[in-house]
Amino acid sequence: MTHPAQPKASHFINGEYVEDTAGTPIPVIYAATGEQIATVHAATPAIVEQALSTAKAAQKEWAKMTGTERGRVLRRAADIMRARNHDLSVLETYDTGKPLQETLVADATSGADALEYFGGLAASLTGEHIPLGEDWVYTKREPLGMCVGIGAWNYPTQIACWKGAPALACGNSMVFKPSETTPLCALKVAEILIEAGAPAGVFNVVQGMGEVGGALVTDPRVDKVSLTGSVPTGKKVYAAAAAGMKHVTMELGGKSPLIIFDDADVDNAVGGAINGNFYSSGQVCSNGTRVFVQKGIKEKFLARLAERTGNAIIGDPMDEATSFGPMVTENQMNIVLGYIEKGKAEGARLICGGNRADKDGYFIEPTVFADVTDDMTIAREEIFGPVMSVLDFDSEEEVVARANDTEFGLSAGVFTKDFTRAHRVIGNLEAGSCFINSYNDAPVEAPFGGVKASGVGRENSKEAIKHFSQVKSVYVRMGDVEAAF
Ligand code: NAD
Repeated sequence: MTHPAQPKASHFINGEYVEDTAGTPIPVIYAATGEQIATVHAATPAIVEQALSTAKAAQKEWAKMTGTERGRVLRRAADIMRARNHDLSVLETYDTGKPLQETLVADATSGADALEYFGGLAASLTGEHIPLGEDWVYTKREPLGMCVGIGAWNYPTQIACWKGAPALACGNSMVFKPSETTPLCALKVAEILIEAGAPAGVFNVVQGMGEVGGALVTDPRVDKVSLTGSVPTGKKVYAAAAAGMKHVTMELGGKSPLIIFDDADVDNAVGGAINGNFYSSGQVCSNGTRVFVQKGIKEKFLARLAERTGNAIIGDPMDEATSFGPMVTENQMNIVLGYIEKGKAEGARLICGGNRADKDGYFIEPTVFADVTDDMTIAREEIFGPVMSVLDFDSEEEVVARANDTEFGLSAGVFTKDFTRAHRVIGNLEAGSCFINSYNDAPVEAPFGGVKASGVGRENSKEAIKHFSQVKSVYVRMGDVEAAF
């Protein structure tokens, strides 16, 4: 019998499901059991061509609609997503392995927030009138044209919406390629947009590996590429987009610092460290994986952290009591287990976890290392799994310098009761998305994105509008034209 997660077909183009079984089969594995639940096929060159030519043609008509009309479609899509939250969350859990306890509140709901927020903004995208004596200039905010979105595997619904909603609000069309690891959820986003009244071809989904992503990025008809992925992929995609002088948004990896001062509320700081390391089993780009703890609070913090981490309920992601799920794939599990071994070998002190959990599927115990030093591999490289590194520090000046000593700059957090210090420290940290006495909140109203190797551009908020539109300026002369001859 066909598994309920099996989509009707692999791709969604021009308002309908499309199949081409000549494409390489991509198995979809449920991470909690290792069982294959669906198969999709990578896009063939014919499918890529169909998606691009469809999106190119659909964009012009979509851009001619008023912002109010476009916004209405997006807001209707948001309502449909919310009404179907449970089913969409179950699918997200099949796609990623993340526990239903999380997917019910963090995926389709976050996608719906983006659709609603950008739907609301669509009608207010106006230009300026600039008086110049008798003459004047006016500006218009115009769409970029056809955009390509490429997703990572940790938030397949959210990533499709965070890219699709602002793109469509501005009058662009999109061809979206989900990660080959989680191909299912974006198809539902495409389906819902059509149901909400989006013209066929405005939002299309094609499946495939990096090769398909590369074909999309290098196509001369594409005006913008928005990627969520790792830094090495980001470098390749950015270079390919630059060759075609395309706009880019790059949401890449991180190794973010979370700084806990002696005066912090210990339980809140532990809560922040848990949210910033173990949510989605640690598969979150903005995670605060370098937890710098001031020496005076260290042992108290570690004791409380170990106690609370012991309360994680590891198990069946479809059981709403489960609070900790598996790694997305066997490969990702092995990468993370490799980092845990390196942590042990390089002399970090294991506080809790450190092993594969004794279950089917790709579960790793939430793992905490203390006495981690800046040069250890686990303190330098993005692990993308449930491995927290706790490092000691003495002074504010020292911790800021050490926190910034990384190629990454996605996020940063600070816990302290001293608000002057909190703002000063955040001001000195090289990171795009920051938190004071909190960690990993990502409301659609706030800009999200990184500095340094962690990315270019911002998603969400009014900032995203700037990255999916461009300004045309028009000089209007009211009198005669003077010329030299
Ligand atoms: P990845 O870089 O392996 O793949 C990302 C996407 O790029 C996939 O869809 C993949 O098929 C595609 N791709 C790969 N090579 C390509 C190429 N040459 N041209 C075009 N597309 C190509 O990343 P992943 O393993 O899926 O996701 C994990 C990474 O994503 C982590 O580094 C994580 O930090 C990052 N991430 C960042 C954010 C953010 O918003 N900053 C959010 C989630 C994940």
